Amino acid sequence: MLTRRGLIKVAAGTAGAACASQALDAEARGNRTMPEHALGLLFDGTLCIGCRACMTACKTVNGMPAEHNAVFPGSEDAYWDAPLDISGKTLNVIKAYRSGTAAHKDQVEDGFAFTKVSCLHCVDPSCVSACPVSAMTKDENTGIVRYNVDACIGCRYCVAACPFGVPRFTFDEAYPRINKCQLCQQRLPEGKYAACAEVCPTGATLFGEVVDLKAEVARRRALEPGTLTTFPRGKIGGTDSYQGKVAKYVDHVYGEKEIGGTQVMHLSGVPFELLDKPKLPDVPPARVAETLQHTIYNAFIAPLVFLVGLTGLAWRNRRTIEEDAPKTGGEA
Ligand code: SF4
Ligand code: SF4
Ligand code: SF4
Repeated sequence: MLTRRGLIKVAAGTAGAACASQALDAEARGNRTMPEHALGLLFDGTLCIGCRACMTACKTVNGMPAEHNAVFPGSEDAYWDAPLDISGKTLNVIKAYRSGTAAHKDQVEDGFAFTKVSCLHCVDPSCVSACPVSAMTKDENTGIVRYNVDACIGCRYCVAACPFGVPRFTFDEAYPRINKCQLCQQRLPEGKYAACAEVCPTGATLFGEVVDLKAEVARRRALEPGTLTTFPRGKIGGTDSYQGKVAKYVDHVYGEKEIGGTQVMHLSGVPFELLDKPKLPDVPPARVAETLQHTIYNAFIAPLVFLVGLTGLAWRNRRTIEEDAPKTGGEA
């Protein structure tokens, strides 16, 4: 006969086995890969001159309003479009690092450097994984991470999920929405490409297929600093280029491995920590989160088995109590 201890052991053992088997199944979720012709950007901070033409062009083609800031009241920043960061009104920002006298470009001490902040179009995007209604999706041909305002329910899970803090909610609008860079996807059918890259005078922001951009990254990194070379401008594989000298890069391509890789990559002459780029693991959070979710959902069978066991135990105990109870009533 099955004892109480035995029944609990069987139920717990079965539940544990179910959990373990589901966890093993869930581990099968590997890193996602990008489409063969994925599109992206290369931002080479050593070529950037901080002109912010890319910010203006981004606003123009995406119909975003100017953003005045009150940090320097009375200064020209209070009148001109002067966003300090990406926001519901600004999809792309160039930020500066400064140290000491800020006299030398791409130097840590007494130097300055530029960085770009915009959506990185992750290969395995957390925003897509977190969105419960598929308002965020990854295009299967270009890999562009798109936003569909009509599907959005305003939960802002994507805002919380993005490790780069990219999606921004327009709290000050009557019908708020998420805004983020969509790699100018609306311009692609017209044969145009990302406006920030199109207007960049130095090719610091360069558009193209990720495979070509990666080859360009490898080419630049293989050259000795100071070597005269040809830099493509606008779109890689286009006709526009110029001659310039290769700078000394830090030994890190930001976006190459972070959270499984991104379609926007960064080169820099100063460490990325100084540019406020978050230090992230190679494993995509989306993969970890989905593994846990699937494990928990799949493993509902485990608590179910345990519940059935406990119910059986309670039923058996009730029968025992009823059988042991003194008989009352009956014949007088
Ligand atoms: S347009 Fe090019 S050079 Fe000018 S700020 Fe933007 S990335 Fe830098
Ligand atoms: S950077 Fe953020 S918003 Fe852009 S694709 Fe990655 S997770 Fe999504
Ligand atoms: S790709 Fe388009 S939307 Fe994205 S930062 Fe560049 S200009 Fe702005």
